[in-house]
Amino acid sequence: MEYHNAADSLKNRVILVTGAGDGIGREAAIQYAAHGATVILLGRTVAKLEAVYDEIETLGYKQPAIIPLDLMGATKQHYLDMVDTIEQQFGRLDGVLHNAGILGVLSPLEQIEESTFDDVMQVNVKAQFLLTQAVIPFIKKSPDGRIIFTSSTVGHSGRAFWGSYAISKFATEGMMQVLADELSNTNVKVNAINPGGTRTGMRAKAFPAEDAKQLKTPKDIIPLYVYLMGPESRHVSGKCIDAQPKPTSSYSHCEEE
Ligand code: NDP
Repeated sequence: MEYHNAADSLKNRVILVTGAGDGIGREAAIQYAAHGATVILLGRTVAKLEAVYDEIETLGYKQPAIIPLDLMGATKQHYLDMVDTIEQQFGRLDGVLHNAGILGVLSPLEQIEESTFDDVMQVNVKAQFLLTQAVIPFIKKSPDGRIIFTSSTVGHSGRAFWGSYAISKFATEGMMQVLADELSNTNVKVNAINPGGTRTGMRAKAFPAEDAKQLKTPKDIIPLYVYLMGPESRHVSGKCIDAQPKPTSSYSHCEEE
């Protein structure tokens, strides 16, 4: 599917992006700003967030904000404080892109270290759960709220050696579906995106031998991210959508890595 987004489709919206310093999150933040949004850049490496901040300012888009936060150690109180800060500084929150994630270690399930499993579940699942809990009351006040999760092909079809990561993405899709159902009578639409194989650091770690030049770049797949954050997707909720669908794949099922 091709997504054509109006140049100002995200005008007046305030959007929080996790993992905004690198890879897909970085491009999503810049493109949200390009479409008129005020973007809040959340991540753990401040230098990377500052580089994205500077790029958005240089391009003449709305001034963004930075929230340095390591999802590995963040507690419920960190997220509640974060929401208070956003409320005080911006007065509204219209969208959250849950993008930050880690791969962990690819290995047979019986060999996965408990600490690896805990780390992946902490960053990929629990952090999203706590952040989501904290923002729900606030984002419900938006006239057209959006929460987007990030899944993977291995988030709905298990694959050998993808252990903790695959399990975390199954949980992510479950969280998305539960929340979409609960918020079905509100202005908040909840969906997930499966980016498909995309040229980033995480992909290079998972597939070190492949030719990265054959892969789509974050910029190639971002139109779906803009569409799901904007007004055109107001009738879409509870879906996991492929950013790179196979010609035969259906609109509502993620089938790509
Ligand atoms: P990258 O590794 O390139 O970027 C991940 C981002 O998440 C980085 O900005 C990273 O910060 C941030 N992050 C990681 N851990 C934490 C943490 N503890 N606290 C705060 N921020 C953190 O990954 P991608 O861009 O490739 O992936 C983005 C999403 O897309 C992930 O959820 C991934 O699972 C998913 N995905 C990606 C695919 C691909 O082919 N690339 C395919 C399918 C799904 P820092 O830069 O500081 O490390």
